[in-house]
Amino acid sequence: LGVTVLPPGSTVGILGGGQLGRMLSLAAARLGLKCHILAPEPDSPAFQVAAANTVADYRDEAALARFASAVDAVTYEFENVLVEAVTFLEALKPVRPGSKALRIAQDRLLEKRLARDLGARTADFVAVSTRAELDQCTEQIGLPAILKTCRFGYDGKGQASIRSAADADEAYAAMKGQAAILESFVSFEMEVSVVAARGHDGSFAAYEVVENEHRNHILHRSRVPARLSSKVCAEAIAIARRIADALDYAGVFAVEYFCADGQLFVNEIAPRVHNSGHWTLDGCLVSQFEQHMRALAGWPLGSTERHSDVEMINLLGDDVDGWRGLAAEPNTAVHFYGKAEARPGRKMGHVNRLTPRQT
Ligand code: AMP
Repeated sequence: LGVTVLPPGSTVGILGGGQLGRMLSLAAARLGLKCHILAPEPDSPAFQVAAANTVADYRDEAALARFASAVDAVTYEFENVLVEAVTFLEALKPVRPGSKALRIAQDRLLEKRLARDLGARTADFVAVSTRAELDQCTEQIGLPAILKTCRFGYDGKGQASIRSAADADEAYAAMKGQAAILESFVSFEMEVSVVAARGHDGSFAAYEVVENEHRNHILHRSRVPARLSSKVCAEAIAIARRIADALDYAGVFAVEYFCADGQLFVNEIAPRVHNSGHWTLDGCLVSQFEQHMRALAGWPLGSTERHSDVEMINLLGDDVDGWRGLAAEPNTAVHFYGKAEARPGRKMGHVNRLTPRQT
């Protein structure tokens, strides 16, 4: 299964119907690949741009089996997809990336252990499963620290900071009994990420390191080039490659880092296309979305070269009401996700502002 090549005309199944699935589907169409989306929400943004759609729960094995019979390979667009759905599909069709990468990336403890085992730095961390353990762990790690659920956290959900011992009760309660990890607080100067692709033949192509600014735990702005030395950038890419090799990865993935005093700390691994790679839609010949399709379809990886300097801004909630002004800006590409309701904090679109490449 591992070496199947999907020629133009093939159908790729995507689990998940959000904006990432939508942008994957648009990129696939340009390559002559069709996408079939499976998602539980009838108003999934990806449905508007895909060749075929299935509205089904990820636990519905009859629907998964029908979906598998209609596609040539399967991928997923969010990392909280059920591992059980992926292992079920793996028995029927090639799934890229496979369940091993998914299992590790879904669990903060496993992903940090992997990074450590590969010689990368992370914040100090320790597993916490009871309230009593939390006190021992704060002793061990020191304060301030951050308590996070091991699984199903995103955009700051399932996280609580502990500045003093008095915060411990509330932080523990916020985990709602789920397995957690306590991390030391890294006073970073910058957050950066590497978005890269690995082919199942071991080929590898990284985009340039991206500098990311979060607001309320949600990505606000990405910029390339990052204001970071070429040495640190090369190190970030080398760590990402080691991670992908260790996972025998096929597809696009992202590694998020904190940077403090020129030192990189691995924070998270995302087994999918990533918000901090949206700049590649307009800053590169081949975007992260096309690259993911190429990698999973067994095509040669495309050029990751950056032709412009780019600033990507996420449009959250009613930011999207400014669409007309944004569309009138020179050298700005607008991307709207076709979501009906602009709830506060919901990712509605993004813009890429281009300036001529300086360095
Ligand atoms: P995460 O869900 O792990 O990506 O965390 C969301 C955001 O919280 C990160 O982008 C950081 O801004 C902040 N954060 C998470 N973990 C740490 C840490 N160990 N030290 C400092 N800031 C952190």
